[in-house]
Amino acid sequence: MTACWMKGDLHVHSALDSDGFLPIEEIVRRSRPFCDFLAISGHALQSDEWGGDQYRDVLAARKKYPDTFLFHLAEWEFPIPRHVIAFTTPDWREFELQREVVRQFDRKRDVIGRAKALEALRYIETHWPDQALMIFNHPNSPAVPFEDLEALAASPVFKILACYDRGERRAPQTWEVGAEWDRLLCLGHRIWTRFGSDFHRHFEDGHTDYYPGEFVQDHLWVQERSYRGIYNAYRDGAFFCTVDNLVSRLTLVRVDQRLRVAFQCGEPVEKFEVIGDGKILMTVTNIDEHFDRELDVPPAGYYRLRGHGYEKKRRYTDGTYVPVFLGNPLFV
Ligand SMILES: [Zn+2]
Ligand SMILES: [Zn+2]
Repeated sequence: MTACWMKGDLHVHSALDSDGFLPIEEIVRRSRPFCDFLAISGHALQSDEWGGDQYRDVLAARKKYPDTFLFHLAEWEFPIPRHVIAFTTPDWREFELQREVVRQFDRKRDVIGRAKALEALRYIETHWPDQALMIFNHPNSPAVPFEDLEALAASPVFKILACYDRGERRAPQTWEVGAEWDRLLCLGHRIWTRFGSDFHRHFEDGHTDYYPGEFVQDHLWVQERSYRGIYNAYRDGAFFCTVDNLVSRLTLVRVDQRLRVAFQCGEPVEKFEVIGDGKILMTVTNIDEHFDRELDVPPAGYYRLRGHGYEKKRRYTDGTYVPVFLGNPLFV
């Protein structure tokens, strides 16, 4: 197997959720133009029985679309409010993981607080060693206290915070420079940021969501095109995120004392910022097609990139938005 880029989305709801709309096979069919992989991450209910229906339909969709990598995940009510996903691969008791976290660590069953949250991560670490990681969805809804994030970050299971989550909503905790994500990075925690659709029901079906991968994309550099390759790229932060595929093939490497930045534009990029140790270190403007340069940046413990395109019209509704990209950090 050889390394390659893959695109996808880990935050998707189906008709099996009370606020979802499309059957799982239909979601896969409509997402295939945009995604190499996706997850169905239904709302785990406070029930011992949750997950059977979703798992049955995920297995059927895998048979029907064997070239799409389809994860069976769940959005679960974490002891620290509110939504998280436990992410694992199909070869490692995927059904059991989703069932057990909701059985044992559901906040709505009065399992509440930081100590219980850490116990949940320890449970996952013990039973799924190096086989599962935790994603904190929309950390702005409600805002997760920094002290909680810092305590969770000591666990190797907590690896990812969400930024874009539904439509054009993004979390300031991960979007703004110097916010919670940068504070974790400054402390040396290897925490990454992802985008996702949080798809429930599309504009064409009378609602306000984009199909998985239609608006936001995670671009993974995978060592092999497999479930494990996708998992490892998320675990290791070997990915970046875009709106509208603003850029592709984003590369950030250290060359002697300089920083090499390279990417291909899907649309012109108005500017990108090099962020290090929670501060903007450099801004580069007006990139039309291809960018590949070595930049002289001040020393920092880590570097990451945040980019902005030009304002454009929405596809399905009035108004405008700005496509963006967000890279995960390179630690020096
Ligand atoms: Zn949620
Ligand atoms: Zn959701």
